[in-house]
Amino acid sequence: MELSSDDVLQGGGQGTMNVGLLERHFHIKLPNAIDLPHPDLTALVALVTTKPWITSTLVVDRAVSKEFARLVFKLFRINISPVSETLEPRAPGSVPVLSYSGGVDSVAASQVLPSGIPHVHFKRIDHDKIRDRAPHVMTEAIADVVSETGKRGYEVHIVETDLEHICHPYPTLPHWFAITVGVLLMADELDAGAIALGGTLETFYMDMGRKWTGEGGKGLEPLSEIVGLPFIRPMLGITEIGTMQIASASNLGDIARSCVLGTRAKPCGVCVKCVRKILTSAAISDSKKVPSELMLLRQEDPGIKALETELPLYMQAQLEYSLSRIKELPKPLEKLYTRLGEPEQAQTTWMERYYLSAINRSVPAPWRESVLTNILKYLPLMDDEHLKDAVSWDRTK
Ligand SMILES: [Zn+2]
Repeated sequence: MELSSDDVLQGGGQGTMNVGLLERHFHIKLPNAIDLPHPDLTALVALVTTKPWITSTLVVDRAVSKEFARLVFKLFRINISPVSETLEPRAPGSVPVLSYSGGVDSVAASQVLPSGIPHVHFKRIDHDKIRDRAPHVMTEAIADVVSETGKRGYEVHIVETDLEHICHPYPTLPHWFAITVGVLLMADELDAGAIALGGTLETFYMDMGRKWTGEGGKGLEPLSEIVGLPFIRPMLGITEIGTMQIASASNLGDIARSCVLGTRAKPCGVCVKCVRKILTSAAISDSKKVPSELMLLRQEDPGIKALETELPLYMQAQLEYSLSRIKELPKPLEKLYTRLGEPEQAQTTWMERYYLSAINRSVPAPWRESVLTNILKYLPLMDDEHLKDAVSWDRTK
């Protein structure tokens, strides 16, 4: 990328975060040669990989459709050029393509989407000019999950990129949607008609488990729609609890991994992500035995320390669900259970059920029925009582 005189080296990224720019060169390497994608697709890739540093203008190498340019201006006040007078926006293809991370949410999404769909993975690789500032991040461990996914018969495409290295702090994306650059660039090649993402109910209907907030905004969805890739988010009506239940039933359940710490072979077992995963698995497991990794947790573990902050906690609903269902807890979690007011199981039963209102909002019509049928194989629907408990959830008071 070339910057123009009014661009900045530090700009708004995800949430309120500022993202710095360290280097203007980065690579996105596709697994195989493809024909040039629709110009709106490559322009969208350009936009989401450079967004924090653009002030007003983005010039791309091929003319985009008028509709795309109009929408970019409406959403971001960015003038994109050149614009073609004749180019039609990209028409959607016929299959959903999953942006696949190898984590629990992704595996669960894969399980309820039509079988045989492509899984495209964004793989972080080294940058040739910038040293790795986080060598403890186990990129290889995630790569192993993804390659095992392929060996187990799923269609997997790995797109390699050093994009995150040009951002400061590292690892950071310039925009959360940059995680999908592989899907965007391969969309024509894969006949993509929707982009599947793993986000759960807590990210859209809740303030991350603290409070029910109702339907979230449209965000970037219109832009994805105009390149023929409406969002399909099967987990949107499902909490982390239900998501874990579906992932456990998947052929990939045993390898799903979100923790990027620890070793290549084993997650760290003590970070926030691991602690929540250990708790949820223990709570939904049929086994009478308390898992050893749960009992090994200590007060000084980072994932436990993170739970010492002021209430309500991040993902408090999930914690109340798990803590009220696990028969035996290690000391620090016993203390937390008391601090949360010894929650009862009945208050969180809704979390293991499907929130039906989400289906129209989260799954485009062509796939709605099949996704719903698949979800209901694993989870029952919330009834009126559950709905009341869910929408009145508020731990901020
Ligand atoms: Zn971990």
